[in-house]
Amino acid sequence: MIYDFAIVGAGISGLDIGWKLDTSNASVLILEKSKSCGGRMATRRLNESKFDHGAQFIKRTKISDALIEFWTSRNILKRFPVPDFDSYFGLGGMTRLTKEISQNLNLKYNSKVITLKNTPHGWRLTLDSGDSILSKNIILSCPLPQSLELLKNSDIPFDPKLQDIHYAKSIVSLISLQQPLKEHLTFVENFDSDIYSICSQKGKGLSIDHNYTIVMTEKWSEDHFGLSDDEIKQKSIVLFKTKFGSTDISDFQIKKWRYCQPTSMWSELFYQPHPDIYLIGDAFGGPSLNGALLSSDGLAKKLISNTHV
Ligand SMILES: Cc1cc2nc3c(=O)[nH]c(=O)nc-3n(C[C@H](O)[C@H](O)[C@H](O)COP(=O)(O)OP(=O)(O)OC[C@H]3O[C@@H](n4cnc5c(N)ncnc54)[C@H](O)[C@@H]3O)c2cc1C
Repeated sequence: MIYDFAIVGAGISGLDIGWKLDTSNASVLILEKSKSCGGRMATRRLNESKFDHGAQFIKRTKISDALIEFWTSRNILKRFPVPDFDSYFGLGGMTRLTKEISQNLNLKYNSKVITLKNTPHGWRLTLDSGDSILSKNIILSCPLPQSLELLKNSDIPFDPKLQDIHYAKSIVSLISLQQPLKEHLTFVENFDSDIYSICSQKGKGLSIDHNYTIVMTEKWSEDHFGLSDDEIKQKSIVLFKTKFGSTDISDFQIKKWRYCQPTSMWSELFYQPHPDIYLIGDAFGGPSLNGALLSSDGLAKKLISNTHV
């Protein structure tokens, strides 16, 4: 079979465009290297609790409105527990929201795309398993450096200025405490020069314990990214004790995001290195879920209005 569109990556941008193209009757296959969808909308289970350890919420804007309505109609959306914050999260975690979108889509998990090759039958996408897929068009929705790596490995030229767009790294601590870290703390952003944000997972109803997702600043993350998880834990415990007093930690995990958020943006909502290949994602629409959606929606509008589909 030759698909109309092969989409690489099942984060919010890949799923959103997959959904829109599928609805417009194109044949679509989404290839995802992980065993689940969501990308940076990620939820992890730790004993009886869940932690969102990527995006904590999605803001309601014109671009996210349709999805917010869709999730609301499925009763899986809750308002983020911070006053004056028109934002939402998934009951059961942010990944659940993406799973709901993926339900009627054609997805292949554990499928890392390693090369793209133009053949007389269409584009051949080779997977790390050795399998291959044929498609007329390709949409790359990975974090930009990963999409560029794929283009390089496939000898597909692109504008070198794309390489000037860098991503901030992020180290995230998932901690379970015996006592609250701080009384009445649900969510705080720009906490100080070491900690970017703290989000109580109990405040979101994802756990009954005092569980927190603590996102370290870009600088702290960059300085400590090369350390092992155990070394990062030791340094973090010392840091948290200094800032919050004694912290009785019952569980502690680390998540390292090599590509957390782009620190600058491309000037257009998508990029086309070849007439059949498109790059989308937060490097094109802005460093947030809404930015990723802006990019996927921009390309969907172009493709669906074309005779392409
Ligand atoms: C710690 C953290 C906190 C954040 N907090 C917020 C927040 O609260 N609100 C907000 O709006 N935004 C937040 N963001 C940003 C937001 O999560 C991202 O902007 C958004 O999720 C990007 O979506 P995407 O679809 O562009 O990319 P991704 O979600 O990264 O999806 C890309 C997908 O491509 C897959 N992939 C990559 N390479 C390949 C390959 N070769 N083959 C197959 N699959 C591949 C990946 O596994 C991934 O699933 C946060 C990000 C992080 C890391």
